[in-house]
Amino acid sequence: MSDYLKRAYAEIHLDRAKRNIEKIRTLLKGNTELMAVVKANAYGHDDGVLPLYFQSLGIKYFAVSNIHEAENLRKAGITGEILILGYTSPEYCKELYDYNIISTIVSYEHAEEMSQNAEQPVRCHAAIDTGMGRIGIRTYDQTKCADEIEKISKLKNIALEGIFTHLAAADSYDEENVKYTENQRNFFLSVKKFLSDRGISLKHTHYLNSAGGTFYADSESTLARFGIMLYGLYPDVSLKLPFELEPVMELKAEVGYVNKIKKGSFVSYGRTFCAESDMTLAVLTIGYADGYSRLLSSKAEVLIKGKRVKIVGRICMDQLMIDVTGTDVKPGDVATLIGIDGNEKITADELATLYGTIGYEVVCGISKRVPRVIMNENQIITVREY
Ligand SMILES: *Cc1c(COP(=O)(O)O)cnc(C)c1O
Repeated sequence: MSDYLKRAYAEIHLDRAKRNIEKIRTLLKGNTELMAVVKANAYGHDDGVLPLYFQSLGIKYFAVSNIHEAENLRKAGITGEILILGYTSPEYCKELYDYNIISTIVSYEHAEEMSQNAEQPVRCHAAIDTGMGRIGIRTYDQTKCADEIEKISKLKNIALEGIFTHLAAADSYDEENVKYTENQRNFFLSVKKFLSDRGISLKHTHYLNSAGGTFYADSESTLARFGIMLYGLYPDVSLKLPFELEPVMELKAEVGYVNKIKKGSFVSYGRTFCAESDMTLAVLTIGYADGYSRLLSSKAEVLIKGKRVKIVGRICMDQLMIDVTGTDVKPGDVATLIGIDGNEKITADELATLYGTIGYEVVCGISKRVPRVIMNENQIITVREY
């Protein structure tokens, strides 16, 4: 069960996710239910195991990006509600009702086409674009928006159970962004009110993501769609949360070879690094094809034997070199590229900052060449290979 290729692997620590969820739950107001966003292989953490684990912790709502992810959750044993957050082509309406999946409706035309294709009711939440500029009904007018949704609710075989919107800038303290977020919420809440005045009852009306749930939690949102914070990362690195989160993923790789080089020697493609003195390099069996970005070349550090050491030269497809001069690092030793070693810690957010992206992209980008080693309280539970 615990046999896997130890070249490069990602540990997924369930106990950390559990503690993150306990903290996130303290943010929720009234009857708001936690919806676990598990799209993109649970942000790279494995959607064959994590959603089931979340279900065992009492989570009843799940969100994914597409029908394929939704079907996989059902096949894995998810019995709770599954909402597809993005556009689903009406040609999949059979899958939607066969697997009891809730589809997002992106526009009236989308709903109409879904209705024409469906032979049974398709469960739907209508998306309202209140300022994200992505999917959803965009009317710039609350009454017109309510009209559109009312029309959708009357279509044959469209079972409209909810409406939602997505906040574009809830992760910022900037005054303009705060105003923008409040406008998005106010727009949404007045559409909700118009619909209930017209007697259209909706089980779910929701607009909170991780950042929204942290700073704008409100029982008016029946669901809080938390993604990134479940996994212990921050929606934005500058945010102060009321608690610390624990990153769930650690990324590790083995030392494949130790290479002593003389002063003046070049390292890796393009000769971007030249040794200023004699050095000892360790070659790690991980590269950009594992999802460890080449943009981290000569920038990032890794942990080995509890110390931070530098990556030297360009990161290759399957290997990279680190400076281990003066240490007794040997082949078979394990380096931590993301995670904790002794008193040192490297987070996905730290790497993201180094190359101008966000922690989300770092963890989602860990490729399927990397086995996910699922652990609980430091014991291996299972290994997921793709
Ligand atoms: C991805 C996504 C979320 C989760 O966002 P986080 O910032 O990871 O919490 C919530 N809602 C929608 C519509 C999304 O696409």
